[in-house]
Amino acid sequence: MDTNGITTTPDVNGIVTPKSHANSHHKGYFLSDRARVNEIDGIRGLLQHEKPGVVSFLAGKPNPETFPFESIILNLKPPLSIPSNENGNGNGDIPKQITIEGNDLAEALQYGPTPGLSSIRGWLEDLQANVHGREKGEWSVSLGSGSQDLMSKGFSAVLNPGDPVLLETPLYAGVLPPLINLNAEMIEVDVDDEGLSAVNLERILDNWPQGKTKPKVVYCCPVGCNPSGCSSSRQRKLDVLRVAKKHNLLIFEDDPYYYLTTTLIPSYFALELEVFPEGGHVIRFDSFSKLLAAGMRLGYATGPKEILHAIDVNTAGANLHTSSVSQAVAYGLLKTWGRDQFLAHAAAVATFYGTRRERFEAIAHKHLDGLATWVSPVAGMFLWIDLSPAGITDSFELIRHEALAKGVLAVPGFSFYPNKRTSSHVRVSFSLVDLEFDAEKGFERLAEAIKDKQKQ
Ligand code: PMP
Repeated sequence: MDTNGITTTPDVNGIVTPKSHANSHHKGYFLSDRARVNEIDGIRGLLQHEKPGVVSFLAGKPNPETFPFESIILNLKPPLSIPSNENGNGNGDIPKQITIEGNDLAEALQYGPTPGLSSIRGWLEDLQANVHGREKGEWSVSLGSGSQDLMSKGFSAVLNPGDPVLLETPLYAGVLPPLINLNAEMIEVDVDDEGLSAVNLERILDNWPQGKTKPKVVYCCPVGCNPSGCSSSRQRKLDVLRVAKKHNLLIFEDDPYYYLTTTLIPSYFALELEVFPEGGHVIRFDSFSKLLAAGMRLGYATGPKEILHAIDVNTAGANLHTSSVSQAVAYGLLKTWGRDQFLAHAAAVATFYGTRRERFEAIAHKHLDGLATWVSPVAGMFLWIDLSPAGITDSFELIRHEALAKGVLAVPGFSFYPNKRTSSHVRVSFSLVDLEFDAEKGFERLAEAIKDKQKQ
C-alpha cells in the first residue's frame, strides 16, 4: 500500500505505477484518486437539466428583477495598428461600442454553468479547433478565473498527494503553491535554449528509481517562457511528445504567451496527434490576461474531457463558476470581432511586444555586454539574464544589497526553482517599463551594482 491506500506493485523494471492507474489506455488513467470519485453535487448536477417546459424548484438563484443593471456598455479603443502587409485586415468596420443586454445580460448577471457560459465556450472551441487544427471530439474547453485558477485545479485533478511531478526549471513560480498544497514531489527538468529539454526529461525517466511511483505529468511553458524567455520549436515539441509517449506522460502546456510572437509555433496540442493518434496526452492553458485584460481574470483550459470534467468538479466546489460578467464582456467583444479580428489583435499585440523587446534588448546590450548573457527571446515579456560572466553566482545577494542600493529591481532567479537553489540569473520584464529613460537608467544601475559586487 502507498500513502494513499492504493495497492501498488513494481513492474519488470521495478517501477511502481498505482494499480488504479495501471492500464495507460484506460479512461481516467491520468486522474487523481480523488478526481475519480468526486462529482458535482446534486444541485449543480441537476441545473443542466433546466430548460423550457421543465418546472424548476432547484437552486437558490436570486431574482434578477432585484439586480440594478440595465445593460453593460463597452466602449472600444481603436484597434492596435499592425503593419499593413502582415495579417492585414479591414479594421475599419469594427463598432466602437458594444451593448450587452437581453439574454446575454441575463446570463451575465445570474449564476451560470460550471465550465463557463455555453456561448463563449462554443466560441473558444471553434477557435481552438481552428488555431490548433484539431477536429472536435474527445476534447473540450472550460473557463477559469485566469489560467492560474485552471492549472491549480488541474494539478489536483491529476495528482495524488505526494505524487512526483516533472517541472521544467526554471519555471513560472505561480505553479508552486498548488503543488506545495498537494505535497507534490517536484522533479526539476532543466531547460536549455529551447525550453523543456527532451534529453533531460528522457534521462530522468529512463533512470527512474526502482520501487518508486513514476511521474505522470510534465509541466512546461513552451512559448516566451516565464522566466527563461525561451521558446520550444516544433521539432523540440515533437521530441518531448515522443518521450511522453515512451513514458506515458500528460503534458501540461501553460501557454499564456502563445500569441505573443510574430511567427506562431505549433502548440503541443496541435502536434499531439502526430505522436498520439488518439489524443488525450496534452492539456493546454490559454489566458486572456495578456491579450484582452488581466483583471478580467479569464483563462481557458483545452484538453481531454475527463480531465476538464475533474477541473469543473473542483470549480463547482471552490467558486461555483467563473465570473459570468467577465465571460459576457469577453464574449461581447469576441462575437463582435470574430475570429479573424481576434487573431489580428493578437498579432498586433505580438508586434507591440516584439518592438519593445528589440529596443529593450539593445539597451541591455549597451550596459551589460561583457557582464551578462541571455537567450534572445522570440516571444513573451522576459529576459532571463545570466550574471555568471561577471562572476555573480547568487543573484539574490546582488539584488538585495547592491542593486537595491543603486535603485534597480529585478527578480532573483532562485524564486523560479522549486527547491530554491542558488541562481546566477535575474528576470527582467520589458512589458511595461518606460523605454525612453527608465530602461536605460535601470540597466546602467544594474551594471554598476554588478561592478560594485565584483570589487568586494
Ligand atoms: N502561466 C504563466 C507562465 C504566467 O506567466 C502567468 C501570468 N503571469 C500565468 C500562467 C497566469 O495567468 P492568468 O492571468 O491567466 O492567471
